[in-house]
Amino acid sequence: MNQIDTIAAVATPLGSGAVGIVRLSGAQALRIAQACFVSGSGKRLEDMPGYTALLGRAKGETGEIDEAILTVFRAPKSYTGEDCVELSCHGGTYVLQEVLAACVKQGARPAMPGEFTRRAFLNGKLNLVQAEAVCDLIAAQGEGARRAALASRDGALSTEIEFFVESLAAQSAHLAAWADYPEEDLAPVDPSALSNVLRRLADRMDALLSTYSRGRLLREGIETAIVGKPNVGKSSLMNLLAGARRSIVAALPGTTRDIVRESVRVGEYILHLMDTAGIRDTKDPVESQGVSLARERMKSAQLVLAVFDSSDVLEEEDRGILGELANQNVILVVNKSDLPRRLQLEEIREQFSRVVHVSAQTGEGREELEKEIIELLQLDTLDAGAALLANSRQQHAVQSARDALEEAIEALQAGMTLDAVNVCIDDTLEQLLTITGQRASDKVVDEVFARFCVGK
Ligand code: GDP
Repeated sequence: MNQIDTIAAVATPLGSGAVGIVRLSGAQALRIAQACFVSGSGKRLEDMPGYTALLGRAKGETGEIDEAILTVFRAPKSYTGEDCVELSCHGGTYVLQEVLAACVKQGARPAMPGEFTRRAFLNGKLNLVQAEAVCDLIAAQGEGARRAALASRDGALSTEIEFFVESLAAQSAHLAAWADYPEEDLAPVDPSALSNVLRRLADRMDALLSTYSRGRLLREGIETAIVGKPNVGKSSLMNLLAGARRSIVAALPGTTRDIVRESVRVGEYILHLMDTAGIRDTKDPVESQGVSLARERMKSAQLVLAVFDSSDVLEEEDRGILGELANQNVILVVNKSDLPRRLQLEEIREQFSRVVHVSAQTGEGREELEKEIIELLQLDTLDAGAALLANSRQQHAVQSARDALEEAIEALQAGMTLDAVNVCIDDTLEQLLTITGQRASDKVVDEVFARFCVGK
């Protein structure tokens, strides 16, 4: 990948749309765009300042093919930090591919996935964490994920990492100076004070590490299994939460044989609901497959909504399901609250504290159910705008930094030389700097940008 090349790509999804954009970045961007565009006013691109636009016609390989608006961004005030041009045409696959082909013919190279953002990173427009946040922002499905990604794009996590780096660099510099220049009149290093400083930083790193698993729920959504014996209203509950009639609802036990998935919003969160086949013993081989899949999903789900029929008595099958729910995040959903109650709740309540009464048919109890979900998973305590670890790369690096910091603390406590302690502090710094990309290897950078689409 050569940064001297001028790169080009279609920056909008391929398909039909009101507008589609071909984007160029690099030293030749203006020249190439000039060759692929006929300005309505006759104005030339080289005379245009940044952040200005021209109306005209885009050219394909064979000549003018569409009306277009051309926007100029001049280095360094552009997304990539280089000269950039965006050609906004009508959003049809053919037109955009033709304009792109014309740009390539004029000397542009088709961009690799994420190459525009990679250039922005290499030109110091954003760091690696912020580049990842751009990707997360594009992938965000709900408000919480969007807010977390934008906060990270704006520097929430980077600032926290910067805090660790600055604090540790200051300690490291003092230790090094003290060891290397004994003749200078430097304040002596007090091992117990240093140990306290490192311990406080370690605690703060632990707090950051703890954001990973809950932040993940925010970004990726919550795998939620809806379980219960046939006919208690699992499909109906799913439809209620999804706000549409998607699963098959029937009065015949055993209708839902496959797993039906639906993603729904609960406040800032997305629940990935799995309406599973009713868990029960059955001789039907197809249904029995569904039942064993339901069991598996129930065990791996982050949240289980166990549905019971309020108008029916508790049966062996219900007890069997209850027995399988130990050690999971469970909310018992007592459905059909619109019908006269026959279900005895005492036995259920003994085992589970979270019980919500709903009617999937009338919608009653939906809000209370959503509230219970948020409380159970402690989602209300997570601030999407704070510093959150967004992916396993960041999590691993902070964990490695934390491990190296622990070694520094242990070395101090064991009375080892300050030089040895400083080696551990430097290791910690090294790990922290890979997060923002200040010290990341090409392999790490490649992996980050491999997640991107072409044109971003
Ligand atoms: P599943 O087998 O557990 O998925 O159950 P379904 O969602 O297919 O529902 C079974 C039957 O119960 C259907 O006839 C539904 O219309 C009915 N049903 C579901 N929820 C309610 C409810 O809240 N109130 C009443 N009265 N009937 C319901």
